[in-house]
Amino acid sequence: MSRLVVLAGPTAVGKGTVVRALKKARPEIWVSVSATTRAPRPGEVDGEDYFFVTPEEFDRMIDDRELLEWATVHGTHRYGTPRRPVEERLADDVPCVLEIDLQGARQVRASMPEALFVFLQPPSWDELVRRLVGRGTETEEERERRLRTAREELASASEFDEELVNDDLDTAVAGLAALVDAAR
Ligand code: 5GP
Repeated sequence: MSRLVVLAGPTAVGKGTVVRALKKARPEIWVSVSATTRAPRPGEVDGEDYFFVTPEEFDRMIDDRELLEWATVHGTHRYGTPRRPVEERLADDVPCVLEIDLQGARQVRASMPEALFVFLQPPSWDELVRRLVGRGTETEEERERRLRTAREELASASEFDEELVNDDLDTAVAGLAALVDAAR
């Protein structure tokens, strides 16, 4: 059976970009599609980027124990990992990656301690702030909230098995691919 790889890290560190590039470079690696109660951003596709669900449907998924983990991220929307697709892939020995927040990573640590936990680090705090501002899709209040979350998240890097620095995208993707390969 394959060993699950969990990628977490602070807001705007570029987890999504790294994982998208990993999927392109290594299509045989399966990346879990999360359920979320937030609305799609322009260009996002239901079932590819996320499963966009109503709060009621999310409640049902929790009640029916369909989620491996779930969390309210940045104090607003809920995000969770559908359990069955992950369990099926692992049983079929398919290399699996979850890209989730720290609260979710801790839940997976509790239920699947054998997984490999990888923390994606920004090159520096200043660079993280620049990336957070640069995205420009959030309000000032939301940005402040994300910065607070990021500060807390950075402090938890030591809980992880491995750290990767997202300085150069290709290097980070190669590093993650090597960890996925080593986890098999
Ligand atoms: P965004 O709304 O920008 O796509 O994602 C916001 C945050 O939600 C990111 O930090 C991402 O890692 C986290 N996230 C995405 N999917 C999941 C999930 O299934 N579970 C948890 N716990 N966090 C998730």
